[in-house]
Amino acid sequence: MTTDPHTPRRQFIRQIGMLGLISVSDVHHWLTTEPYNLIVVGAGTAGMPCAITAAEQGAKVLVIEKSNTIGGTLHLSAGHMSAGGTRRQKAMGIDDSPEKHYHDVMRICNNTADPDLVRLATQEAPHTIDWLESLGFPFDPTTPKLVFGHVPYQIPRTYWGTEAARSIFQTLLPLWEKYVQSGNIILRLSHQLTDLLVKKGKVVGVRARHQGKTISFFADNTVLCTGGYASNPEFFAKVHPTRPRLLSTAAPTSTGDGIIAAQKIGAQFRWAEKHISSLGGVELEPGSGRTDYWKAWAMVFTAKYRPPREIYVNAQGKRFMNEDELDPDIRERIIAQQPSEKFWLIFDDPSIDDGESIIRGWKPEQIRQAAQEGKFIQQANTIGELAAKTGIPADELQKSVAAYNQAVATKNDPEFGRTTLTHPIKQPPFYALLSYTSSLITFGGLHVNAELQVVDARNKPIEGLYAAGEVIGAAATSGNAFCGGMLLTPALSFGRILGRKLGKKQLKNS
Ligand SMILES: Cc1cc2nc3c(=O)[nH]c(=O)nc-3n(C[C@H](O)[C@H](O)[C@H](O)COP(=O)(O)OP(=O)(O)OC[C@H]3O[C@@H](n4cnc5c(N)ncnc54)[C@H](O)[C@@H]3O)c2cc1C
Repeated sequence: MTTDPHTPRRQFIRQIGMLGLISVSDVHHWLTTEPYNLIVVGAGTAGMPCAITAAEQGAKVLVIEKSNTIGGTLHLSAGHMSAGGTRRQKAMGIDDSPEKHYHDVMRICNNTADPDLVRLATQEAPHTIDWLESLGFPFDPTTPKLVFGHVPYQIPRTYWGTEAARSIFQTLLPLWEKYVQSGNIILRLSHQLTDLLVKKGKVVGVRARHQGKTISFFADNTVLCTGGYASNPEFFAKVHPTRPRLLSTAAPTSTGDGIIAAQKIGAQFRWAEKHISSLGGVELEPGSGRTDYWKAWAMVFTAKYRPPREIYVNAQGKRFMNEDELDPDIRERIIAQQPSEKFWLIFDDPSIDDGESIIRGWKPEQIRQAAQEGKFIQQANTIGELAAKTGIPADELQKSVAAYNQAVATKNDPEFGRTTLTHPIKQPPFYALLSYTSSLITFGGLHVNAELQVVDARNKPIEGLYAAGEVIGAAATSGNAFCGGMLLTPALSFGRILGRKLGKKQLKNS
């Protein structure tokens, strides 16, 4: 007599069917389909390499993806990756190592990231970059480079492709398609994870919503790669009760679903308090809560790339900082203290034409056109009228402009010490561009240990459940700071680590 190796699984499915825990159609679906070794939830930055790496080892990987397409934030991200000790650095004579990268990250974030996860990320990072290179990744020829958008590394170790993060997506796509064709990756688009299925304390699968129906899938292990929550205003407000309303430029799919599902089974969520929003957001449609990093981004994150021709004023009409400040971290912290984390850039007409654009990539006529539409840039012939249009108290705005013009005339800014004093605000029309801090990423996330297992409130691993990517929170690998490339690279690397580890055939339990 031969024993059916799938019998325990079949018995389990029948049992939970009889208990009414899954539907009759689920029972049928499960008795007539093969089991999976691994479920990867989310086919984005972390999920794609995770599924590919598991499939490379012959595993059968089910990928459920709530969108009708794959790639996640790879379609949006600026694509900066960081790694120390890559082949590319060696070829360029750059002396670097994972150890140096680790210490640089911990220096920049002031030791606020998770040391075990930064260690793991920096160790794996050069392998990830070398792997992409072996797949034909189209490096921007000037990289690796030092980048000054935030506190820079001490060694050039930031890489990107010719088409931002789309280059990563395009590099992964042929491998992805190969394993979809071989049947090792089974992709279910438009399937949204709603719940994790648990048996005797172990995660045994997931429940997903598809076209109004609920379907359950089972596997030996589950990896959550569902991204952050920067497009979920309700969840954001819940975990950041003291912050102003959420403005987001993240993928609309970044709604924290993986975090919410894992919290329902006792997973630990941590470090939301380390959240930092980015400077430069412009709410194109007032009230929408959306900004767009690629369409309209004010050049305010450092004065290094664009010496200011404007002043910044807050809702009270007061200047609050030296617009010349080079350090993005200092700028972020000062601007985050302004009411509603918003401020206006006040400038006059000649300032539009003279030098680098105030909105990245925008031509002067686009700025003037937007000012005429009056949604996020207001225009007026007097400062008083500009104040009325923006709701800023007129006397304060007039005082701020007059004091600044005096500073330009005397080449001395006693209040803030600004040294770029080239452009008085005196020739109408005058303009006010409203800029907010905006969330590209979210810093809170599921607590994972150094094995990337999701842990519960007592730091005990939840068996069968792993996570990679922004679902573990940006703070895990970047702390309370923006460390260059320390989101994308760990997402790719942790995805690969889990794919390698969990991709081994484990049908014995099926
Ligand atoms: C504009 C911008 C610029 C950035 N620039 C950089 C940079 O230069 N360097 C850097 O390191 N980081 C950068 N980041 C951050 C980085 O790109 C992201 O943190 C990273 O790509 C997130 O990867 P992920 O795999 O966690 O999520 P994603 O790539 O978003 O993938 C998550 C996937 O899960 C799916 N999903 C979500 N919920 C469910 C569900 N319930 N069921 C099934 N599927 C689900 C989503 O549809 C998506 O496909 C940037 C982010 C933005 C928005």
